[in-house]
Amino acid sequence: MSETVIRVGRSAPVLRSFADYLDGEQALVQRVELEIVETVRGPELVIRPPEAPEVRWPLDDIRVVPDQAGKDVLMLRLADDPVSRLLVSDEEARAIIRARCPNLHQRPPVKKRARLLAWSLGAVASVGLIIFVLVPLLSDRLAVFLPPEGEKALGDVTFEQIRTALSDNEFLPVAVCQGRSGDRALAVMQARLQGKLDLPYPVSLSVLDHKMVNAFTLPGGRVILFRGLIDAAETPDEVAAVLAHEVGHVVNRDPTRSALRSAGSIGVLGLLFGDFAGGTVVLFLLNRLIDATYSQDAEAAADAFAHQALADAGVPPSALATMFERLLEKGGDADGIVAHFQAHPKLGDRIRAARQADRLLEAPASPVLNDVQWKALQGICR
Ligand SMILES: [Zn+2]
Repeated sequence: MSETVIRVGRSAPVLRSFADYLDGEQALVQRVELEIVETVRGPELVIRPPEAPEVRWPLDDIRVVPDQAGKDVLMLRLADDPVSRLLVSDEEARAIIRARCPNLHQRPPVKKRARLLAWSLGAVASVGLIIFVLVPLLSDRLAVFLPPEGEKALGDVTFEQIRTALSDNEFLPVAVCQGRSGDRALAVMQARLQGKLDLPYPVSLSVLDHKMVNAFTLPGGRVILFRGLIDAAETPDEVAAVLAHEVGHVVNRDPTRSALRSAGSIGVLGLLFGDFAGGTVVLFLLNRLIDATYSQDAEAAADAFAHQALADAGVPPSALATMFERLLEKGGDADGIVAHFQAHPKLGDRIRAARQADRLLEAPASPVLNDVQWKALQGICR
């Protein structure tokens, strides 16, 4: 590595090094030359891409992007530029930057939303090629080789990324709800649904304290319900219906391929958006990643599984239809599952199929939770 540190004049160390630079215009990481120069405006970091004009970052305006890079990489941004990123891995360069940038850990202001949105749409177009074409091609191959422990690890990592990305506070991931009696109620519901099922791995069920009306499944049997979904349901049967649908995805191992894509996508997007966790753009993109990952065939198969599992458990499969209709009624809400299902041309078919499936019910129906358990589940995040 051609990197030298020269001391000039008094004691300010001067930097000459290399780093990786993402200019925010194109989804391309460029190897750039770095230098710190003294100017009348104050010291500036000069970034020199190989085939583009140099960029100057005043040292006062450089901020570190928290929690994005590993310990051995310093990810930097400019205070009022939400999109450019500089990744410095050289140890001495990191030390000099840490010593010379006085406001490194100040929180950047969240502004220039319009530019961010415009940029992110452009980025989606170019990054989209990677996310929606290359990663899926690879992930279909990778899924074959992934052992169950690998699936579980992938699910765990993605779960933590989602918790962080959905939070308004970058230092505090969205909470996992753990009301004791609520947990017990959830376990009762799960046991009732899973009664005779043969699952590839145990389902691990969590409730996230977030208002989004949504549920999803990650690889390795991790099923997540959002508080918003429990709030939107009027009966425990409706929650059980969504849970049964998600367990259908577990049984069919749908999340593995898609989560390989999502993990890649979230990873790429996390790198690009960094400290914008909590911003609408990230939420929008995450919603798409969480909701729109399965094909219509996979959804129909998960529905069919849910119908049978609900009927076997003595819960009317039409509860799934009721839940879908309830979500449709809340049409004004553009969050999560609602927007997804509204855009779904086959939702009417899915509602009809769930209604018709009630004839599968052999034993008389009985509510999946009693009133006390249902109250406990509704209060699981309190
Ligand atoms: Zn589904």
